[in-house]
Amino acid sequence: MIVGVPREIKRDEYRVAMLPVGVDELVRAGHQVLFEAGAGLGSGITDAEYQEQGARIVPTAADVFGQAELIVKVKEPLPQEWPLIRPGQALFTYFHFAASRELTDAMLASGATCLAYETLRDPQGRLPLLTPMSEVAGRMSIQEGAKYLEKPQMGRGILLAGVPGVAPAHITILGGGIVGANAAKIAAGFQADIAILDVNMDRLRYLDDIMPPNVNVLYSDRHTIRAQLKLADLVIGAVLIPGARAPKLVTRQDLKVMKPGSVIIDVAIDQGGCIETSRPTTHSDPTYMDEDVLHYCVTNMPGAVGRTSTFALCNVTLPWVMQLAERGIDDACQELPPLATAVNIRRGQVTYRAVAETFGLPF
Ligand code: NAD
Repeated sequence: MIVGVPREIKRDEYRVAMLPVGVDELVRAGHQVLFEAGAGLGSGITDAEYQEQGARIVPTAADVFGQAELIVKVKEPLPQEWPLIRPGQALFTYFHFAASRELTDAMLASGATCLAYETLRDPQGRLPLLTPMSEVAGRMSIQEGAKYLEKPQMGRGILLAGVPGVAPAHITILGGGIVGANAAKIAAGFQADIAILDVNMDRLRYLDDIMPPNVNVLYSDRHTIRAQLKLADLVIGAVLIPGARAPKLVTRQDLKVMKPGSVIIDVAIDQGGCIETSRPTTHSDPTYMDEDVLHYCVTNMPGAVGRTSTFALCNVTLPWVMQLAERGIDDACQELPPLATAVNIRRGQVTYRAVAETFGLPF
């Protein structure tokens, strides 16, 4: 099979979808790998390093899309890439379809098969291709929160840890999954005062067992959320209903109870965000003020720590790329249930229920 890796063109995206070891494995298994020139540079990997493993470097994205049967990417295709996608081609990348009707319509029209990293489920029901990026974003959310709570960044002027004699910051984490647990772990290290809210009681019990004493776990309902918003210096949005738009847990009205200069990091923005006032931002212009609360809603947080993220992502995607190349797209998706759960669109049809329901499309 011809596998193609284009350069990511989303603003401030520095990841690449394959490491040199991935090229090595594919080439040794008899496949061809095409790389767009410079695709790895954002992650500190040169064309020569890919070439040494047998990749063919081509000058443009059009060369990659024009020849490859399987495109492996990091972020969803952007409008300038849409016309390059061919019927029958397969794309394996993050799509987050529920957040964009335009992207969904474009991929339906393309006739391609779209396998979404974020919905691939393993036999234990986990989302293994979302996990490493959620680990990165969760850990990073506290780093960013700490920064934006500083006064020159328009925050309240709060040090997460406090100091002897001054209380630490209160951090409310909405959703205790991978993002939430990783945020809590780092925040706990800062000695902040933390509450994680979730609706899954088993998850709350687990978090209660493993988290240090400065992390409290609370059931997520409207009253508890509002009570937390009054206390919070920093709110982390980390809820997920897989494949669907994030539920809006905090309304514009709710923000009025928050302290001026407090910060919201809505990590769930890639699924539409869990705060009514959230709208997508970029690393170059990550924040805006609304209702006196500083919002940070960067849709590709891991892109900023591209090298860490590239290695973390490629570690978990390569085994599936190998299966797709070895078995062929259709057979791999039929024979391997996790790959079947990744297929969101197949040749003009939505094949993932939550995406169809979001847009009222046939399923
Ligand atoms: P996860 O499935 O591990 O956790 C989500 C948690 O939300 C679950 O524990 C679930 O029970 C909980 N939840 C659902 N409804 C809830 C409610 N009403 N109140 C409280 N909790 C609720 O998901 P994750 O891997 O932690 O990802 C969280 C979000 O972060 C996703 O939208 C994901 O796409 C996003 N994400 C964004 C970036 C970025 O760069 N912005 C990076 C990685 C992940």
